[in-house]
Amino acid sequence: MSFTVTATDGAARAGVLRTAHGDVPTPAFMPVGTKASVKSLHPDEVREAGAAILLGNTYHLHFRPGEDLIADLGGLHAFMGWDGPILTDSGGFQVFSLRDTLLAVEDEGVTFRSVYDGQAARFTAEQVAGIQAKLGSDIAMCLDVCPPAGVPRAELEEAVRLTTAWATRQREAERAPGQLVFGITQGASDRDLRSRSVQEIAALDFDGFALGGLSVGEPRPEMVEAVEWAAPMLPADRPRYFMGIGDPEGILDVIARGIDMFDCVLPTRMGRTGTALTSQGRLNLRNARFARDPGPLDERCSCQTCSRFSRAYIRHLVNQQELLALRLLSLHNLSFLLDVTTGARTAIEAGRLAEFTLEMRRRMASEA
Ligand SMILES: [Zn+2]
Repeated sequence: MSFTVTATDGAARAGVLRTAHGDVPTPAFMPVGTKASVKSLHPDEVREAGAAILLGNTYHLHFRPGEDLIADLGGLHAFMGWDGPILTDSGGFQVFSLRDTLLAVEDEGVTFRSVYDGQAARFTAEQVAGIQAKLGSDIAMCLDVCPPAGVPRAELEEAVRLTTAWATRQREAERAPGQLVFGITQGASDRDLRSRSVQEIAALDFDGFALGGLSVGEPRPEMVEAVEWAAPMLPADRPRYFMGIGDPEGILDVIARGIDMFDCVLPTRMGRTGTALTSQGRLNLRNARFARDPGPLDERCSCQTCSRFSRAYIRHLVNQQELLALRLLSLHNLSFLLDVTTGARTAIEAGRLAEFTLEMRRRMASEA
């Protein structure tokens, strides 16, 4: 068994996920290296910030530079200079979130136009398994149908049906030596459809299970409520992955409801907009009130950005569109989210997650 729960606190769990490239303490925040890079950061900085596992995007790596090239150069770990665990998504999320590039969704697979050259392309269960096997990731994800929020129930039902059909095929498909494969459940926040999806996907006995099709545009309270009843439906002895959440409040929401892994592009995306996530809420560094502020982004943070640079300096870099602004903000945002996650893990082990969460929320709601 690749996953062990080591402590629980209410519905929340702390654990360890063992992969071919090392152990991942959970709950785990997975920084996203979309194109085999966590934007602007060196892998050593990502590790030093506390990341134990990265996420790579199958869609983008398939089109540029291509899985065959990466395989010829020793696989994704060697290619990007990261020897820790890597999870690759199936590419399905990109296909379904770029709805105007969708051409056909059929039993065989999904046909779409590549965002790179507009050429028609197709993903099938077997093909995304093959791509991820060549990339050599530690965890491969199943191809699923991920509709946006608010689609008619019939479309959700069809998403559940196809997701199960594809997962059944992918389970028997090729995988890299030692590669774990996670199944994805769909059904949005429709209780009947979600439980049908969970039953069908859990029966396929994957190494881990994800809640897909949430955090896709529905109101946050609806999402949190769905996680509350859906997470406990997933097998208790396997890791539970919530796809696509990474704001500090959201992280605390899903951890408390029994989620073990999550990913988001937020730390680097916020960096690009000049925003810092801090223990006292979000700071927009463009704000004139930081012009002469000698303090760090976050007094409680010990990252390389906060231990050396002032808000005033970073504000200057943001305003002048200096590349260093993006690096310093991304590094801090990533460190902060990883610290929140580690703090939650420690709190679960001490049986005080509720207090930790309350304290974090109270501080983040205050003015910096
Ligand atoms: Zn910091």
